[in-house]
Amino acid sequence: MKLNVPAHIASLIPYPPGKPLEELEREYGITGSIKLASNENALGPSPKAVAAIAANLAKLHRYPDGSCFYLANRLASHLGVDPAALVFGNGSNEIIGLLIDAFLTPGEEVITSHPTFLVYQKVVQARGGVNRVVALRDMRHDLEAILAEVTAKTRLIFLDNPNNPTGTVFGKEEFAAFLGRVPEGVIVVLDEAYVDFVAPAIRLDALDYINGKTLVVALRTFSKAYGLAGLRVGYGLMRPEMADYLHRVRQPFNVNQLAQIGALAALDDEEHYSNTLDMTRNGMAWLRAEIEGLGCRTYPSEANFFLVDVGRGREVFEAMLARGVIVRPMSAYGYPAYIRITVGLPAENQRLVTTLAATLQEIPR
Ligand SMILES: *Cc1c(COP(=O)(O)O)cnc(C)c1O
Repeated sequence: MKLNVPAHIASLIPYPPGKPLEELEREYGITGSIKLASNENALGPSPKAVAAIAANLAKLHRYPDGSCFYLANRLASHLGVDPAALVFGNGSNEIIGLLIDAFLTPGEEVITSHPTFLVYQKVVQARGGVNRVVALRDMRHDLEAILAEVTAKTRLIFLDNPNNPTGTVFGKEEFAAFLGRVPEGVIVVLDEAYVDFVAPAIRLDALDYINGKTLVVALRTFSKAYGLAGLRVGYGLMRPEMADYLHRVRQPFNVNQLAQIGALAALDDEEHYSNTLDMTRNGMAWLRAEIEGLGCRTYPSEANFFLVDVGRGREVFEAMLARGVIVRPMSAYGYPAYIRITVGLPAENQRLVTTLAATLQEIPR
């Protein structure tokens, strides 16, 4: 076989794959396992979204509305923005790719942090861009060091706020000062996948920056607070002139019909949304106190997950998995001593603590 693969593709490291839950259970000979590994919503999807989807199954032979007309209008009025400022995607992950497709020429540069969401760097590399990576400082985006990394070739800067996997945020003043120093023409992408969970008093809202002097794009998703990760729907919010280019490069039917219907219904389910925030805040406080009580340091987080220093992250992850509790080892993010835990339902949190306690007997901190 003669297969020609460009060097920037041959050197790509795949996103850490997860096996299906059913397959893991079969391998380990367990049942009833719980997954607190992927920052999903433990309450499940909004019941309104489920009902709306069920009511529309008979229309699956039709192509979806390629303009996401109803969703765009509903969301635009919810946010108080022009519908032309919105671009929907097959998860906000797709928007990351569209931004690179639309605004980066191969050989140009993108600045990201380390560790951060693994997808940005992979997408840049897959499209022939050059990653410039800046280490976090005290687990936070080092905005000063990021500015120092800007060159004439820099086209985009990706900042997730809160950052995944640390759960840290930057504030309004810090961000405004940063934006003021970003050179003209560089796009700052503010990934707000977890913005819903941030304490209102310190919450920075990308909406306030979209029409400012610096080019700012916000990314948001229905995968986390809205509990619709399996549907794949997210969006970018930006100046309509920028959105226009993303519409040119995207597939015509990139958001499936059920995703549009589910997201639209979820937006109206305020009860599910506020229950999610309550569950997350209460669960986070309880879990952190319990885990600290086991002698492991936990890190404060403004998202629906947090890091725990367990000493040997990979081994603790494996041992917990064998007991039916799935968390995320952090070696792929450069934190071999840590695991990342997503807040679950009270009974799941309880089981996680019991399981971690038993595991630490075998694999002491
Ligand atoms: C989960 C997550 C997303 C969401 O991606 P979708 O494709 O919308 O599911 C985006 N950014 C970060 C940092 C995340 O952790």
